[in-house]
Amino acid sequence: MKQESRVRLEVDLKKLSGNFNEIRRRVAPTAVMAVLKANAYGLGVLPVAETVRAAGAACFGVAEINEAIELAPLGLPVQILGNLLPDEIAPAVEYGIVCPLNDLGMAKEISAEAVRQNRRVRGAVTVDSGMGRLGMQAAAAAREILAMRALPNLELVGIYSHCSSAYQRYDDYTALQLGRFKALLAELAAEGMTFPFVHIAASDALNNFPESTRPPFTLCRCGINMYGYCDPEVRPSMHLVPVVELKTRLAAVRILPTGASIGYGRMHRLRQDTRVGTIAAGYADGLPLALSNRGYVLVNGRLCPVLGRISMDYTTISLENVPEAQPGDEVVCVGTQGDQTITLEEWAQLKGTHAYELLCSIGSRVGRSYL
Ligand code: PLP
Repeated sequence: MKQESRVRLEVDLKKLSGNFNEIRRRVAPTAVMAVLKANAYGLGVLPVAETVRAAGAACFGVAEINEAIELAPLGLPVQILGNLLPDEIAPAVEYGIVCPLNDLGMAKEISAEAVRQNRRVRGAVTVDSGMGRLGMQAAAAAREILAMRALPNLELVGIYSHCSSAYQRYDDYTALQLGRFKALLAELAAEGMTFPFVHIAASDALNNFPESTRPPFTLCRCGINMYGYCDPEVRPSMHLVPVVELKTRLAAVRILPTGASIGYGRMHRLRQDTRVGTIAAGYADGLPLALSNRGYVLVNGRLCPVLGRISMDYTTISLENVPEAQPGDEVVCVGTQGDQTITLEEWAQLKGTHAYELLCSIGSRVGRSYL
């Protein structure tokens, strides 16, 4: 029988629901797509999807076909936000996925597949307004998009673009992107072509550039904010609460003598006899190497410094502040214990990264549990 995982990612679905409601209120009447790619940023896609569906998500956004197929039975529209590879078109049509239309050629192939399967397919036009990743260049896209109207069995339900720098609130590049996209929308509208779902904003834009959530935009795509995080450069416009805590257990408690070296590379040497703990979590569970000799964890509500290098499955800490600690005790790597809190943002700062990367790096053996 499978035993409980030593390392647990606790996901608070009530907080998730609270964040989602906060986002909905902030952008209303604009609708919200819940972005659930990469297993809902590592949190576990189905519980997250069910929670945000109940909280009023208009649709789900994912990166690729397998993620889309997993969510299709939940009944909300599921849009792939990237592109489709040739062999992914048939299943996308079969499962009723909202397909990204990156150019007229792709739209034709998707339409032809829908005809072959004798189904209707929904598509969302992908516009490159300056991200430089996928889609049609905004300035030159109108003719191709207008031609999509004639394609059989294809219903054009959306048009969308993506901001590259919306976390930089004083940078005028986002305004330039919005302008390019709006100009294209106006060109299409002049030809009588409009779309139910028009979107460009993700979390950073909806905070820093509120105009990206108002008409002509009717939808915004939200990922990281639902999970309670914001880019440090973003001016948060909502009260969001982090929804995850990462916990493990103390595997061993020992007194090591003055001069003993700790871990790979002998990165730490004890200056005195020290009570050390070995916790059952390492970089395979998502603890960044950058915490080596710099990070902290919580045991019995007290901060315990990391000693030496983080290894794959274990991390050594000082228990000098926690003389009563015993093997088996709970260790909080991220989250609150007593009146102390360690945040994912603190990890991000030590590693020089963002919450996205850290969430997506939580290891596959880490048990996800839901409150
Ligand atoms: N839309 C697209 C096209 C994306 O690539 C992403 C995430 O990378 C999102 C929306 C969601 O972004 P965020 O998590 O910042 O809200």
